[in-house]
Amino acid sequence: MAEVTLDFLGDLRRTHNCGELRTADAGVNVVLMGWVHRRRDLGGVIFIHLRDRYGITQLVFDESKNREAHLRAQELGSEFVVAIEGTVALRSADTVNPNIATGEVEVAVSKLWILNTSRTPPFPLEEDVDVKEEVRLKYRYVDLRRPHMQRNIIMRSKIAFAVRQALNEQNFLEIETPFMTRSTPEGARDYLVPSRVQPGQFYALPQSPQIFKQLLMVSGYERYFQIVRCFRDEDLRADRQPEFTQIDLEMSFPQQEQIYDVIEPLIWAVCEAAGKKVDKHIPRITYAEAMNQYGSDKPDLRVPPFHRVEDLFAGAGLTTDDLPLVAIHVPNVGQLSRRERDEIKASGQERGLRVFDDVKRLERDHAERVAKMRERIQPGENDLIMLAAWAGEPKGALPDQTVLAACGQLRLHIAQKYNDRHELLDPEIFKFLWVVDFPMFEWDDEEKRWNAAHHPFTSVHDEDLEKLETDPAHCRAKSYDLVLNGVELGSGSIRIHRRDVQTKVFAALGFSEEEARRRFGFLLEALEYGAPPHGGIALGLDRLVMILAGEQSIREVIPFPKTAKGTDLMCEAPSTVPERQLRELGIRLNVPHQSSDRK
Ligand code: ASP
Repeated sequence: MAEVTLDFLGDLRRTHNCGELRTADAGVNVVLMGWVHRRRDLGGVIFIHLRDRYGITQLVFDESKNREAHLRAQELGSEFVVAIEGTVALRSADTVNPNIATGEVEVAVSKLWILNTSRTPPFPLEEDVDVKEEVRLKYRYVDLRRPHMQRNIIMRSKIAFAVRQALNEQNFLEIETPFMTRSTPEGARDYLVPSRVQPGQFYALPQSPQIFKQLLMVSGYERYFQIVRCFRDEDLRADRQPEFTQIDLEMSFPQQEQIYDVIEPLIWAVCEAAGKKVDKHIPRITYAEAMNQYGSDKPDLRVPPFHRVEDLFAGAGLTTDDLPLVAIHVPNVGQLSRRERDEIKASGQERGLRVFDDVKRLERDHAERVAKMRERIQPGENDLIMLAAWAGEPKGALPDQTVLAACGQLRLHIAQKYNDRHELLDPEIFKFLWVVDFPMFEWDDEEKRWNAAHHPFTSVHDEDLEKLETDPAHCRAKSYDLVLNGVELGSGSIRIHRRDVQTKVFAALGFSEEEARRRFGFLLEALEYGAPPHGGIALGLDRLVMILAGEQSIREVIPFPKTAKGTDLMCEAPSTVPERQLRELGIRLNVPHQSSDRK
């Protein structure tokens, strides 16, 4: 890079930003600062697109008007940082740029300060340039300058502000809870932080502020919230981050409905901040209904439900893997070719389903039953109906969770595959849903024990309290999930506030009194000091912003995310540490050698 003499900022101040000049400003003398986005050198005239967070303004360096500035402008390269002084001028009609807000004006530059140079960026900053994600993450500070990233990060900030405002209006207090703490109950692995002053002891980073927010209710704060980082050491699946952000809240004396009443206006405020129009109604269905109609506890309501049809075909003399259990209905798919049908069949087969190739054949043999089925489904002329029977293990299963879940997956597969025909999965349509009354426990077949479906502090339905000991499988929890377009945004529950009930739930979970005391003793004790009925919820901020921004990955809305292997490619974290640091912590490593795999 040729040596460029740099100027000092001195006491120079911006008068305007790069997004605000309009025709009414013609003739005004301005000072702008920003980055050289694009440069066009026509010899006697150099055009620069100057960019800052607010937009882009065209600068003109005209040799015939200002030799010195023009000469200096020849030194400019991509992403140099500059300040300019100049006069706003109207562009001639044929040079107006309708693609930028300032496109009707330009600034005739009289003075240029070069504040810093830049190495050639590792990739162009234009919107539609495809860049490998590893390169983007390594040079994240450059990537974050790209227009869509700026839009996402700005949207995220506006959403966070809307959350604070909405909750503030509802009397919630923003209260911080510790990051260096002990194990919390969300069921993932903890990230541990060794203590130097107490060698051999570790803090755990919180998987959520669950226990602290409950303690704040015991302390009488009544309405708490926090936009808070949570840490979970899970095997990272495609779109998980080891640290992620939740909108976490808790309130005292709530009915379940009151939690919805708090969250719904918050959601509308968030959508408005993101500039999205939504239908201001969130339907509610029970977990059992969700499984029966969608085969999923987080149904995407943009696609219609499937229909259980086994009752219509019962007694028709069909063998179990010939007995249609579920009719999947996807509107406006139109005619499918043989190859397309075969693909759906194969996809069903992978999930243990036998997909009926052709409803017409069934219609021939069972006309009346198929007519009844159509009456139930009421398909339009171009709609696709696919019938599925169970052909997987266990043999002859009737619609239970496994079978329904397989049908639910096939339903989504078909909907996604033919979206270009029906366009139901429009990312600009936002369908929220409450799923309520989850089962209290899930059976862990490997460990042969019940696990808490939400977490062990969740209340059981009053009328199911007795079943805790006798029939855990049928205990319903006072819990709820908020779902958006098939994505679980968050979960919450009414908590247990009585020590005796908590003891029973721990017993049902197979925790001994001693283990319960060891892990959560302070919470159990706190329940004995006047704990009010309380409940809350936590919503994933990253996912919420991702969907509202129309992105496919949460990495697009997190400024400095990690890769699927939990690596920060820019800072190269995690990393080894000097031996001395380990010694201070009383730690000796037992790994053959340090991995240098940074992916
Ligand atoms: N702490 C729970 C979670 O992170 C949410 C809640 O129950 O409020 O999933």
